[in-house]
Amino acid sequence: MSEEALNLEHARCPVCLSDNYSVVFKRPDLRLCCSSHRFTIVRCRECGMGYVLDRPSEASLSLFYPPRFYATNHDRSGQLRPLQNKLALVNAYAAEFSGGPLLDLGCAGGEFVAHAQQNGWQASGYDWTTSLSNQTSLPIQYGGKLDELYADKSFSVITAWAVMEHVATLRDTMQNISRMLAPGGIFIALVPNFASIPGRYMQGDDIPRHLNLFTPGSFDRLLREYGLQPVQHLFDQKIFMGTHRGLLVYLLKRLAGEPLDDIVSQHRAPGRRPEFCGMLRGKPSALTRTVCWFDRTVFAPAADWFAQKIGRGFTMTIIARKTA
Ligand SMILES: [Zn+2]
Repeated sequence: MSEEALNLEHARCPVCLSDNYSVVFKRPDLRLCCSSHRFTIVRCRECGMGYVLDRPSEASLSLFYPPRFYATNHDRSGQLRPLQNKLALVNAYAAEFSGGPLLDLGCAGGEFVAHAQQNGWQASGYDWTTSLSNQTSLPIQYGGKLDELYADKSFSVITAWAVMEHVATLRDTMQNISRMLAPGGIFIALVPNFASIPGRYMQGDDIPRHLNLFTPGSFDRLLREYGLQPVQHLFDQKIFMGTHRGLLVYLLKRLAGEPLDDIVSQHRAPGRRPEFCGMLRGKPSALTRTVCWFDRTVFAPAADWFAQKIGRGFTMTIIARKTA
């Protein structure tokens, strides 16, 4: 895309609307390279929420969602094991509503809608994108406004798998979620955890597509404001990968004097991974290769396990219940 097409706007905290922040880091779109602009990621001093300060305007946002975004995300969301694990969560926390109406927000290709439908739920799906069209016989809606589309609908369960971090109209969407849920209904959201080492230090979020960088506390605050009571926080990787892999390599390269910006770029940018795992200060390095191997086989699995135990995993699933 051309830089001229990118319009930026100053964002306030998407949870508490405060404009009191501290800068955490700056980085460009390393994954899909839709722009070379270095976005500023900040942390709200009032509620702890992370967010993109200079975020793309509503008109510019679609430029960061080229067709290849949906192509790469599709592959993962269609895998059977994560689908089964999503459904297991729904069945565990919404057992009293078994087989009731379920809405999957940000449903992309509708893989979870189909899986839930096959397992007895009255499942339907919604996605903000208009670059996809419904290829199924399932009730899936692309584009349109939630308050108009579902004005008279009530759902027992609403799910949002790796979606809320992308939503530009976060508070408006939460209001709709609260409105669409039946009394006692269950909301399940999976998001990256900004209060984790991969989120805060390794800059693991997909910037700038992830506009909202939640912590357990900031998500809880948002839920309560809209009449939902958090009932569980999970930090495992059964649905979505969120690992500490690479952390030892970061530390080695930092000790050797490499700038953090460049280490993040080596780790995240397509084509730079061999440099990340095999070089130190621009030269081939057996030490880096050894540390990378140890990190992958021993350290990262242990760090992931420990982080999950203390509630600091990079993947966070929050289950909440509508209180009234
Ligand atoms: Zn805030």
